[in-house]
Parts: sequence; C-alpha cells; structure tokens
Amino acid sequence: MQSDSDIIVVGAGAAGIIAAWRAATLGAKVLLLEKTPRVGTKILISGGGKCNITHAGTVEDVLKGFRPNEARFIRPSVYKFPNTKILEMLTDRGLEVYTREDGRIFPVGQTSRDVVRILQTYLVDAGVDLRLEHSVKGITRDEAGRFSVTYSNPDGEDETTSAAAVIVCTGGSSYPNSGTTGDGWQWAKSLGHTIVKVRAALAPMYMQMKEGDAERSGIALRDCALKARFGGKELARWRGDLLFTHHGVSGPCVLGISREVAEKIQEGEVILQIDLEPDSSFEQVAERMLGLVSSAPRRLVSSVIEDLIPSRLVPALLEAAQVPADTLNGKLEKKARNRLVEVLKGWSLGPVRTVPLEKGEVVAGGISLDEVNPQTLESKVTPGLFLCGEVLDVAGAVGGYNLQAAFATGCVAGESAANLVA
Ligand SMILES: Cc1cc2nc3c(=O)[nH]c(=O)nc-3n(C[C@H](O)[C@H](O)[C@H](O)COP(=O)(O)OP(=O)(O)OC[C@H]3O[C@@H](n4cnc5c(N)ncnc54)[C@H](O)[C@@H]3O)c2cc1C
Repeated sequence: MQSDSDIIVVGAGAAGIIAAWRAATLGAKVLLLEKTPRVGTKILISGGGKCNITHAGTVEDVLKGFRPNEARFIRPSVYKFPNTKILEMLTDRGLEVYTREDGRIFPVGQTSRDVVRILQTYLVDAGVDLRLEHSVKGITRDEAGRFSVTYSNPDGEDETTSAAAVIVCTGGSSYPNSGTTGDGWQWAKSLGHTIVKVRAALAPMYMQMKEGDAERSGIALRDCALKARFGGKELARWRGDLLFTHHGVSGPCVLGISREVAEKIQEGEVILQIDLEPDSSFEQVAERMLGLVSSAPRRLVSSVIEDLIPSRLVPALLEAAQVPADTLNGKLEKKARNRLVEVLKGWSLGPVRTVPLEKGEVVAGGISLDEVNPQTLESKVTPGLFLCGEVLDVAGAVGGYNLQAAFATGCVAGESAANLVA
C-alpha cells in the first residue's frame, strides 16, 4: 500500500473511532486499520447488546468509577470529551437516550447497533480511510521517527505502510473473539513500554463447586451484598444482583468485586459470602426470624425461608445452617435459629477457583500510565506514538465508565496526533 496518510490508527473500537474522526476533522489524512469485518465490534456486544454508552453526572462523578491513579490519568481527557460530548454526537444524529436511576445511560428502544451505525457516519463524513479485515502484525519506528506498520490484508497478504504518527487503540484481551487479543501490548513493549500485568476485571467468578451446586444455575438474587474475604478480612464488597451460573456466580455485584479478587487470588484463598438481608442488622434479622417462627409453630422452617429467598436455594441454605429440611418452626431451637440468621447475613459460597480473564467486560493492567502523557496521550518513550482506550492500564467500574474512558482518551489522542503532523 502506498503511504499517503499522516496518521495510522490501529483498532476501530470505541477509542479508535473517536481518535480517527477527531484527527481527520482537524485536517489530518487518517488511515484506520481494523482486524475484524466491522467497526465497533465490542461496542456491539456491550451492555448485553444495548450499549451502556456512558455514565451520567459531572466529570468528577464519572471519575469516581475509576481507581484514584487511573482517574488522575484520564481526568484531562474526560474534561475535554465528557459524557455530554459523546451523547451530543449520538443524539444529533437521531439516537434517543435515557438515564437509569443508577446513572447508566442507554439508547431508548434502540441498540448498540444504532450507536455503531451513527459513529460510522462520523468516520465517513470526516473522510477517514477505513480498512476492515486489516490485521496489524507489527509497528516499528525508524531513526528519522517515522513509523512502519505491517498488516495482512483481506487476501491474507502482508503489506506495509508508513506515517508520522500512529495511534494504538487495540483494546484489551477479554472476549478474544471480538478481535481483542492483546496485540497492542506486544508492539508497545517492542517500542519501549512497560506492560502492567494483565488481570481480569468486571468478570464472573468460577467457584470450587461441590456436588449439586451446578443445579443452582440460573437462579438470581436481587439486591444482595456480596463480600470477598481474604485471610479472615473483608477484601471487597458490592451491592446488587447476583446470578448463579454453571461454574459459579456472575451478575453486577460479582463483576463489581472481580478485580480485587483476581488480584488477591494469586496470593491465597478468597472466599465469597452473600448477605441476603443487607438492609438489616444481625439483631433485626434475628428478631424478624423469631417473629416468623413463633407465629406459625406448625409450619416447616423451610416455608419461612422461602419467603426470604428463591425457593430453589432453600435446601442449600438449610444445609449450610445445619437445620434438617423437615424441622417444624415450633421445634426450631434457639441455636439453630441463630445459625439460620448467621447464614442469611453471611452465606459462604466457599473459595473462588478462578476469575476468567477472557470472560471479563474489561481487563485491568496494560500499558503503564507512567509512560504516557495524560495531557496528550503521547508515549513518553516513543514520540509520535499515541495510546488510548483499554490498551492502557485503566479499568473502570460497571456503568458506562469504560466506554467513556475509551471515547475520551481517543478524542485527545486523535487531536494530539493531528497537532503533531499539522
Ligand atoms: C460483553 C461486554 C460488555 C460490555 N459492556 C459495556 C457497557 O455496556 N458499557 C461500557 O462502558 N463498557 C462496556 N464494556 C467494555 C467496553 O466495551 C470496552 O472497555 C471498550 O470497548 C474499550 O474500547 P477500546 O476502543 O479501547 O477497545 P475495543 O472497543 O475493544 O476496540 C479495539 C479494536 O481493535 C481491534 N484490533 C485488535 N487488534 C488488532 C490488530 N492487530 N489489527 C487491527 N485491529 C485490531 C479489535 O478488533 C477492536 O475492534 C463491555 C465489554 C464487554 C466484553
């Protein structure tokens, strides 16, 4: 391929689309190379196909979805390209959005497909040279500071092109079928960067399952508190819904603490505990339980518990509290009643087996933030190289934070690269 572009953007995900669009609107000739046959492959599967585009609130509210060092790093980008900007781009071209009570912003009656379709119109209007099914294999920089990018074209042939600036936005390495296989880290490493160990974040957890545990698969708990314990101490907790799966647990509160668990599990056993009555103290639950069993002495204890949790979970809960299933309320001793309350307030699911990285919505780790200028997203070790989106060591919470970080850092990288080549 003849080299006639100023900037090569690698990866047409959330960060790459915005980076390419921004650079092209500032007058740069932009070539956007994407491995898969479509743009926004990961946006398409985001939010269960509905796309939680961003999070509501001020910039500072949005930054609360990140660890302090990550928030500090992305702060200049999010101020430059806040949630209002991406929403404006989308709503200007027909997308209707709504904000959920928890601050998550979604399209109204539309899907992630509409989001991607609109973003693609921006690429077309800005004149970005988009090449799908172009998988980049390597990036090198010569002594004059010019980059050579080698890729395989749709016919499987290798070609090389060059440019004064390259923006790497190849994402992380979860959901590898969506095209994200951590390629950007290898090139960044070869260009002098440090890669912070990559771990799962926003991922389900696989538990050490006992016989019969898999039968709980599909049962959902609403608004419980999930706690992870390590070495007898609470490591993390999250309030929300939980889903039992074939291999363990998933759902918002599992995703919410998965990063902490993935980090600690390298060092030893992490135990999960569910508080099924998070709004009540132990004493309050004990008092309620006493009232319930005393008012119906001839009913089975199991029927009382059924009023509190999904009926399919009752046998497991009674077993955990060592209360025989045929116990009548009238025969329930105080000690056994207290054990039931203990289990309702802290039901142990046992040790976590693993937090599968490839099943996470994002990965933590990636290109070290110390080596990238947060004002421009330019590499501090390789001038002319720009890095944005999930390829960086940034991982936000569930709630639209990660797409927001990708859009915002993409915008700044595109703008800075365009200024460099102008
Ligand atoms: C199931 C799921 C649901 C999610 N839901 C949400 C949500 O609702 N809200 C939210 O904020 N976040 C969500 N996320 C996270 C969010 O999608 C990512 O954090 C975000 O897409 C990262 O943007 P990015 O541009 O950095 O990377 P990506 O969007 O992953 O884009 C990277 C692109 O680079 C391409 N690429 C990789 N290697 C090469 C190569 N060698 N050559 C050329 N191209 C290459 C890939 O094909 C891909 O298109 C979800 C993630 C998953 C997996």
